Amino acid sequence: MAPKWDVIIVGAGPGGCTAAKFAAQKKLKVLLLERAKNPGEKNMSGSYLFRPICEECFPGFKDAECHKGMPRWGGIDFRWALDNDEKVYGFYMGPGSDAMRDQYSVFRDETDDWFTKQAVKAGAELKTALATDVIWDTKGTEKRVIGVVTDKGNFEAPITIDASGLHSLIANRAGLANWTKDKIMLGLKYIYKVDPKVLRERMQTYKDTDGVDVDWGVAPMLCGSNPNQFGAHATGMPDRGIVSIAYYWSLADGIEHRVNVHQRGQWYLKQPEVARLIEGGEFVQCNFHGLAAGDIVGYVKKSYLPGLLLVGDAGGFGQPVDNYGANVAMWQGKLAGNLAAEMKEQKDYSEAMFAKYEETWRDSWVGDDDVHEISVWTSDGSMNELFWTVDDIVDSTFRGKWNNKTYPDIVMSAMPKLLKAMPSVQTILYALRGVTKVGLKKAEPYLGMLKMLNPGSDQK
Ligand SMILES: Cc1cc2nc3c(=O)[nH]c(=O)nc-3n(C[C@H](O)[C@H](O)[C@H](O)COP(=O)(O)OP(=O)(O)OC[C@H]3O[C@@H](n4cnc5c(N)ncnc54)[C@H](O)[C@@H]3O)c2cc1C
Repeated sequence: MAPKWDVIIVGAGPGGCTAAKFAAQKKLKVLLLERAKNPGEKNMSGSYLFRPICEECFPGFKDAECHKGMPRWGGIDFRWALDNDEKVYGFYMGPGSDAMRDQYSVFRDETDDWFTKQAVKAGAELKTALATDVIWDTKGTEKRVIGVVTDKGNFEAPITIDASGLHSLIANRAGLANWTKDKIMLGLKYIYKVDPKVLRERMQTYKDTDGVDVDWGVAPMLCGSNPNQFGAHATGMPDRGIVSIAYYWSLADGIEHRVNVHQRGQWYLKQPEVARLIEGGEFVQCNFHGLAAGDIVGYVKKSYLPGLLLVGDAGGFGQPVDNYGANVAMWQGKLAGNLAAEMKEQKDYSEAMFAKYEETWRDSWVGDDDVHEISVWTSDGSMNELFWTVDDIVDSTFRGKWNNKTYPDIVMSAMPKLLKAMPSVQTILYALRGVTKVGLKKAEPYLGMLKMLNPGSDQK
């Protein structure tokens, strides 16, 4: 008897919905499994999606209800905290930057629900179920996945697409992913409700020429590696009367330093700009989630098995520095959904067909972005060391001038400080080597030079 489903997709996040939509559009029988009663409610995630990929995968997103009234960032106030957060360095991207037009603020509770509806509209069947394991084919000789075990029974299909996020049980049970504390940043999210009118006044949004509300960048995005590696940001959504606040920290560092994350989250809430944004608001939600930002591990080594494809966070994808991962999940979801259709059309479910998925993403921007080396210098203290050095040199430059020192004198006195910072510069060279490896795949001589400048970095 032919299986009831052509493809089973686990997880109705951005990756799963995109895969479901593309497969269903090509007339495949698609079963989309989601553990939450309403897709989106078990997600926390951040608050930003990229416009081009959203519109490519889901035409009509721009005019969707879930998108109406959502502001876009006009500016970014990025600050790196030093000295137990008493001193910060940063940069500010001022309002009006065109780059921001390619980015949306979103409330994932709403957008995931909308994405799911598009998949269902295309023909996918949505079922609330918690997938707990894979089903192996015990008849054949090769290791093949033929479906999933869930709390609502077993479901079988020639293709399973796992898009169930960073904590994926499926990827784990299939033996493809087993993340440790070095991979994960633990995110904490607070949602506050604030009177929409009051919030709008506080944010002082202005209308861009395309009618979209623009947030001037009122709340600082704070990051740092002292006392541990952390990041924090707050996003106001005036039409929803919601402020979404995320605080995340490296799990490995957090464990080592015995960090109380609520205490750290509360510290961010007390930063003047954030405190002002939520003043008088009602605290309505708190949840936790892992993300792969500041990732020094990288993606899964293998993203498929016969019968199974890993999409998005389930495979640990997402750029290792920032883990803007929804765009990657959607791009891979489209790839997986289309490949499923190709397999059905050709009636070919061979390992080579599943391997095509990995060959394609590796040879794309997703594969090229897997440069986990560039996260090292934020986590090993090198970035702090460099900021301290710059701070020290700026300080002694001014002091020198107040005391009639010449510039040659000032430069010479900065030399020992620069030499002291050399190990940190080495880490940056190590990071650059990772980038160079990708950018200049065929330029071995350059890599050799960087290796000479940075001996011993292979051990990192
Ligand atoms: C604090 C934080 C901030 C972030 N900020 C951003 C940002 O601003 N922009 C950005 O692009 N990315 C951001 N990310 C990363 C982004 O959230 C992920 O990369 C993205 O959501 C991955 O999409 P996905 O579809 O692969 O998985 P997910 O979005 O994690 O979706 C997985 C889905 O599977 C369901 N599920 C899980 N397990 C099961 C199971 N066993 N059975 C059935 N269903 C299951 C979940 O309920 C969920 O709906 C952030 C992440 C966090 C934690």
